[in-house]
Amino acid sequence: MRIDILTLFPAMFTGPLTESILQRAQERRPDGTSLLEIHYHDIRSFGLGKYHQVDDSPYGGGAGMVMRPDVLVKAIEAVTTEGMQDKGLRTKDLGKPHRIYFSPRGKRLKQIAVEKMAKREWLILLCGHYEGIDQRVIDGGWIDEEISIGDYVLTGGELPAMVLIDAIARQIPGVLGKEESAAEESFSKSLKRKKEYPHYTRPEEFLGMRVPDVLLSGHHKKIEEWRKEQLKG
Ligand code: SAH
Repeated sequence: MRIDILTLFPAMFTGPLTESILQRAQERRPDGTSLLEIHYHDIRSFGLGKYHQVDDSPYGGGAGMVMRPDVLVKAIEAVTTEGMQDKGLRTKDLGKPHRIYFSPRGKRLKQIAVEKMAKREWLILLCGHYEGIDQRVIDGGWIDEEISIGDYVLTGGELPAMVLIDAIARQIPGVLGKEESAAEESFSKSLKRKKEYPHYTRPEEFLGMRVPDVLLSGHHKKIEEWRKEQLKG
């Protein structure tokens, strides 16, 4: 999967996307491809004039700045063209990008949507900042989907982008090792979209609290039943 991120703060992605499982997903495999290919684009490089202006004050007044539609559309179109031309680490054509804007007004992100999105070849993620973006970017057809990660307001779309990428990446076959399988987890189909059962590891007794006997029994069928009972709706 190819993901292009449009952001004013590309450096924010260092750390979350450069460690552990997400880092491994981006590594090149022997055939030269990678499971996850991320490209960062600084919106400011599409800014206007000497100071690379990207935002302006809102019509109608009010606090904060709004990201300009001309700048954003230029950025989205340039990134689309680049992605179509640049074969990158891929072996096949990407088709059209699915363009997402993060917004508290968007559709609340759920596991089912994450699983569907993980099947796509190419995403463009637009991270808003300040008050958000000019509505005409959305109304004019440059955004395919608005996504919210919850009913609270963040300072920018960068954290939501990282949340989405993390959730998607673990659904891409091969990203998780066998020990980390995504098949039987909270919200997965095999757990009927419920929340997972609790986990225990050594020691058998910790500060007077014992691991449930059934888990020590070695009785697989009973363990399975116990785990099913423990699922939360
Ligand atoms: N004026 C807006 C808030 C802007 S927050 C309002 O009142 O709704 C700045 C940017 O952060 C937004 O453009 C969006 O990209 C991102 N953002 C903030 N909260 C978010 C959330 N819950 N989900 C997804 N994106 C969010």
